[in-house]
Amino acid sequence: MTNKLLTNLMVLDGTGKKPYPGEVLVQGNRIKKVAKGKGALARDGVEVIDGCGATLMPGMVNCHSHVGYFDTATLWQMGELPPEESTLTTLRNARTVFDHGFTALVSAACAKPRLDVVVRNEINAGRAVGPRLRACSPQIIATAGNGDARQLHMHHQTFELIADGPIEMRRTVRTMIREGVDLIKLSFSGDDIGSYPHGLSAMVTMCEDEIAAGCEVAHSRGKWIAAHARASQAIRWCIKYGIQIIHHATLADEGTLDALEAAKDKHWVVPAIGILYVCAHEGEGQDIVGNNVALINAIDREIEVAGKTMREMRKRGIRVLPFGDYGFAINPHGADARELEHMVNLLGFTPMETLVAATKFGGEAFALGGPVEIGEVRPGYLADLILVDGDPSADVSLLQDKDNILMIMKDGTVFKSPAEGRRARRVVAAE
Ligand SMILES: [Zn+2]
Repeated sequence: MTNKLLTNLMVLDGTGKKPYPGEVLVQGNRIKKVAKGKGALARDGVEVIDGCGATLMPGMVNCHSHVGYFDTATLWQMGELPPEESTLTTLRNARTVFDHGFTALVSAACAKPRLDVVVRNEINAGRAVGPRLRACSPQIIATAGNGDARQLHMHHQTFELIADGPIEMRRTVRTMIREGVDLIKLSFSGDDIGSYPHGLSAMVTMCEDEIAAGCEVAHSRGKWIAAHARASQAIRWCIKYGIQIIHHATLADEGTLDALEAAKDKHWVVPAIGILYVCAHEGEGQDIVGNNVALINAIDREIEVAGKTMREMRKRGIRVLPFGDYGFAINPHGADARELEHMVNLLGFTPMETLVAATKFGGEAFALGGPVEIGEVRPGYLADLILVDGDPSADVSLLQDKDNILMIMKDGTVFKSPAEGRRARRVVAAE
């Protein structure tokens, strides 16, 4: 592979530093040098890529991805899609989010057990184009948990794997580990959208011995765990049982925030506020919430509480990450970067803090305890880079339009070249 020199660009390195004019040398699949100014790096024998004055930043990392969800209008419809179509749809979704500037995903569950595993393997083998993917199990729930749509005498399925009691939990987690997942998803908190009204957000939907059993098995095989945990008690269990990725964490009370702060180096929190936002503000009459005003109001209240909770986490230095729960008709794949705007407008983070969370913090979580190799424009890191038309640290909403992403590089390979982008056409036209 010829070395590549990316030049004529602003570098937004993912650490929170202000973008600066610079150049980046990529050797093979890694970043070799990052230099300030123009003409600082030698041009001999390298392929020069003109960045057209745009902003080079690390590819985004989504740590609450559901590429194995199918943009269906309801949870039931997700269970209706046969495995073959489910697999192809997952592969297509992975490509969609890649084209929107996401070069790595940590899955937060897929709708059938092997979807993530198969798609991850296909991408890693170079047979399909897509982001790096940490493969997850489906959400493991107990009866009447989030997504249990069954009725007596009727068959319904959503995205769940049901395990009741420690024995079933151990078997389910072991089975998923055998099938090749990188991490396990447990869902032991309710959800106003997914299990209304029997398993509300503020409720816990598993018993502690079930959680302990699942975590014991996962930890014993070196697997990471992510949990759906909205209720305060559920977040406390995440801390107690070493569950690294805490999804939602919206209803943390003061004591839980204290406990999380004391363990903040061990956890990443992903609120995934966008699904609540669309259900509360754009969902009325849509299948996911229908015309259930009580439900819509409850979701709206959770957004308000989450705004306070996340501001508190920000103050305490707890890592809060954007993205999550895209993969429904109301919140489809490709719209994921809307979450950046929500993080600024609803949760009180600055645009730069939001971008650091979308890159550096995401890269740290993606490592799953191994060496951190993505999430910054930094010598030695893997060359997962995107070039953005404009300055995302001035306006994070730029990242919602994939046409603003002029270049996508993963592992040192260019999948979209700036020469194809409209910025380059504009620059050429002006010359
Ligand atoms: Zn989710």
